[in-house]
Amino acid sequence: MEINKHITEINRWRGRYGAEVRFIVIHYTAGDGDTARGNAEYFASDYRAASAHFFVDRDSVWQSVELCDSAWHCGDGASRNGCSNLNSVGVELCSKKDPRGEYFIPEETAALGAELVRYLLTLYPGATVCRHYDVTGKVCPMPWVRDESLWKKFLETVREDEMTDEEKKRLRALENRAEELEKKTAALEKAKSELFDQVGVRWAYVDGNMPSWMKPTVKKLVKKGYLRGSDNSYGMSYQLARVLVILDRAGAFDR
Ligand SMILES: [Zn+2]
Repeated sequence: MEINKHITEINRWRGRYGAEVRFIVIHYTAGDGDTARGNAEYFASDYRAASAHFFVDRDSVWQSVELCDSAWHCGDGASRNGCSNLNSVGVELCSKKDPRGEYFIPEETAALGAELVRYLLTLYPGATVCRHYDVTGKVCPMPWVRDESLWKKFLETVREDEMTDEEKKRLRALENRAEELEKKTAALEKAKSELFDQVGVRWAYVDGNMPSWMKPTVKKLVKKGYLRGSDNSYGMSYQLARVLVILDRAGAFDR
């Protein structure tokens, strides 16, 4: 990503008065097809009582204020989240209007904006990425306040892009491994239940390690002569024992 520069000497404070950058604030220009370069030139040419560090359009990024200086983009009055001009970087995304006159931020502009934010996060690790709206309640960037899901999508793109190709590859390998393990676990569960059926046969001893819930029924059936086996084993599976216990509870063997 190339960052073009057209620095304003007018609309900014020199320095940050000791504050560290803890926020990256996203705005929209409320323009209709304006360009990043055009904005940088506009803010460099005269006093505008406002500014931002970066302007982004579909295919370019222009820097208007140095990162060591403070831009005037989110105010220094009451802040909802502790963000101010002194401790933040301001990023303006160039907007467009759709045929109904509604503002939107083109996909390419959002993608390039995400790339810029990812770069800024390498300079300020752990900084909070927020909207102007989150700082002061101003409806900015309007399309992403109107539709919260678009903002969430942007944040997801930023996070995805934070990963290097190598990390993405490793993540994919781990996901594949997890899927494999899940399949193996399912196969083991199946084998376990099959084994359990077989073990159930061995459990069916009158005096052995038979589960206590089936003991009274088995004893009753042996006593009545309904059940005959050798070595106190009746070839009884777990499932069969369950059926017999249910029948017993229903009184089937009490005649
Ligand atoms: Zn704004």
